[in-house]
This record gives sequence, C-alpha cells and structure tokens, in this order.
Amino acid sequence: MENHKFSPESLMMSHGYKPELSEGAIKCPIFQTSTFVFKTAEEGKAFFEIAYGIRDKDPKEELGLIYSRINNPNLEILENRLCLWDKADDCAVFESGMSAISTVLLEFLKPGDLLVYSNPVYGGTDHFINHFLPSIGVEVLGFHPDESVEDVKEMIEGTGKAANLAMIYMETPANPTNNLIDIEAFVDLAKQFSTSERKVLTAVDNTYMGPLWQHPLEHGADLVLYSATKYIGGHSDLIAGAVLGNQEVMGRVKVLRTFLGNMISPNTAWLLLRSLETLKIRMDKQTQGAQVVAAYLQNHPKIESVNYLGLLKEGTEQYRIYKKQCTSPGAMITLNVKGGEKQAFQLLNSLKLIKLAVSLGGTESLAQHPNRMTHVGVDIEERKRMNITDKMVRLSIGVEDAKDIIWDLSQALDKITIEEKELISF
Ligand SMILES: *Cc1c(COP(=O)(O)O)cnc(C)c1O
Repeated sequence: MENHKFSPESLMMSHGYKPELSEGAIKCPIFQTSTFVFKTAEEGKAFFEIAYGIRDKDPKEELGLIYSRINNPNLEILENRLCLWDKADDCAVFESGMSAISTVLLEFLKPGDLLVYSNPVYGGTDHFINHFLPSIGVEVLGFHPDESVEDVKEMIEGTGKAANLAMIYMETPANPTNNLIDIEAFVDLAKQFSTSERKVLTAVDNTYMGPLWQHPLEHGADLVLYSATKYIGGHSDLIAGAVLGNQEVMGRVKVLRTFLGNMISPNTAWLLLRSLETLKIRMDKQTQGAQVVAAYLQNHPKIESVNYLGLLKEGTEQYRIYKKQCTSPGAMITLNVKGGEKQAFQLLNSLKLIKLAVSLGGTESLAQHPNRMTHVGVDIEERKRMNITDKMVRLSIGVEDAKDIIWDLSQALDKITIEEKELISF
C-alpha cells in the first residue's frame, strides 16, 4: 500500500501544487507576477548562483523563485505534471510549439553541423529546417518513410559530413500523412555515428500521439517535443509548446529559453493545468470516435483511400512500427477523395458540424487541406514525393458524438460531384 504508484491521470489535479502556500486554494492560482520577493539578500544570492550555473545545487536545495522569465509557479507545476506522462527528468514549456522546436534546434546545432530529419514534418518545422538553418550554416538532409535505416545511413555517409552529424529529428506519426518512423531504429543509427566526444542526439515531435499514446523517451530518444496547442491544450484556445528529456539536455534547453525569453506566460500555463485534468478522457473519447469515423470513411464510394493508424494492414512495415511504438491509433485521419482540389474543396465547404480550420487535437472536429493550407510552403516536388496532393483532406476528430461526425461527413461527401474526365486527369 505504501508504495502505490498513481497513474499520471490521477495526479493531474494535484501533483506539484501545495495548497498551504496559496491560502489553501484547491486550485493553483495564476501567479500573474513578473518578479518574486527574496526573504534576504543571502537568499537572492543563492538563487542566482544556481539559476546562472555559478555552482551546483546542494542535494536538498531548490531553485527559488526569482523572475518570471526564469521560473514561475504556474510554469513549474505544469512542467512537473508533463514529466509524469513521458517519465522525463525535466520539462520546459514554451510560448508555442514552434518556439520549443526552434529553441531545441538552435541549442544543439552549430554552423557546420549536419541535421538529418524525417519527411514530412509540420509545415513550420519544414520552413525552419529548410530555410532558416541553412542560412546559419547548418546542413540538412531529409529522408522519407519509404527509405530504410540502411538507406539513410548510406545517404549520411554520402554527404561526406557524417562526422558532423549532430541530430536526427523525427516527426512520427507525421503531419499530415500519418507515416510512422521507427524511433528505436533511428536512435540506434544515431549511436552508430556517435563518438566518445560527441553524442548524436535524437529528437521526436510527439504532437500527434502524446503525451498519451507514444513515449519516445522510452524508445531511447533524447528529446521529445510538443505543440501543446494541440491535444495537451485541447480546447483550441491557446498556443504553447513543451520539450522534455534528461537533466543534462534540459539544462541546456532551459538556459537558452531564459535568454531567448520565449517561455510560456503564467496565464497560458494555468490554462494548460486545467486542460491536463481532462487530457486522458478527452484523448480516449477522441480516439474512440476516430476509429468509428475511419471505419465509415474506408468504404465510402467517394473516397479513394484513408490513412489512419487503426487501418494499417498487418504484415506491413508501418504496422510493425505501430505495434511496437504506439498504444492507440489516435484521432488524426487523412483521407484522399476521388478527384482533386475541386472535390476536396466541395467536401470542406459542405461541412456543417466539423469546422474548416487548421490546427488539431481540440475538443471540436476540424478539417483542412494540407496541400493548399498547412503544407503549401513545402517544396512542390517534395510534396508529390510524400503524397501530399490536392486529393488530401486532414481531419482532427473531436469529442462530439461519432454518429454526428459521420452524419456530417456523409452529407458533405454527397455534395461532391465528379465527372469521368476529372477522375482520369488526377
Ligand atoms: C502545430 C504543430 C507544431 C507547431 O506548434 P505551434 O504550437 O503551432 O507553434 C509542430 N509540430 C506539429 C506536429 C504540429 O502539429
């Protein structure tokens, strides 16, 4: 009994918060304050010594509150709670998913380094990797889901810069195609290129699955990243990001965050604390709904194909990775209509309950067109290579009754008109 270990979902209401420090309030208040009063000058001195790495923390010492760019109770409690899901040593929360991602890439990549990354990735990440990183002298090499680990190894060796490989960055499942990357296999590849002086790091964007259904750190990844705007926030009312990992890497991430000043605000952190209380029930309901919706779409005459983890065929490589790495098929469905942009837009324009908007993971179902919306900035040849075409519509399934979502999709699919010649030309 003494050693009972609570599930993360049971701790989301209380972990890391001491009511006695806040007048007994059951809920953590919003610490809307820029700075914190030190009891004595000696205490202020000690807090700064630790915050600025002047000396190591004594085992029993805690980093006291200094200034809200460095730390704040709402941020710290949120970070402590997020650590429970991924069993991470430490977490840093950011003002957006992109600031979490760009801070990690900036901290661990220096001019001359090589970054290897999976395709496709979120449109903003793709832009940062392909347009910003090369401008500061970082070389980038993308691989595709149909390339094996051995292929990627040869590609890395082929660059002549294998000794400069600094990081392998993965997004799995990939936005918007739902392609899976074998995290363990790429962690192993990173080891092959690591030396005693230099460890090749692995980072995984876990926004689609996390923090519930996939735990990249358990598969050996060094860093896990989130757009907390999506499932973690879950109500489409905030923008936020998070990074988790071991003490050593997170120490570096937090120092850069302090000096870029891109931490989350106390108010947004407070909203996320509220969101975390219902994270499990929201995500469970969303994936239940998505499974029913995907089964319906799969056999619809106006639909060519459906990419959903719950529909992966046994015996395939993707299915093997899914079984190894994910504990649920999630709630993101990508479908390809028969036809092209016209038919996809007819579907999108006819929806009544599902909203036509980018983003995902919220309580309401959303639909968008990756090729003309979120991924329009990705190189056109690359998009073709990744099967991001005009046929594609991405759905994020919310918590509505699945019957209603299906009704809505059914009436919108009925509005699609397709002529014989349009079928042929796409
Ligand atoms: C939305 C998203 C991001 C970017 O997050 P923001 O919170 O919008 O900055 C990164 N990765 C994935 C997979 C996303 O879906």
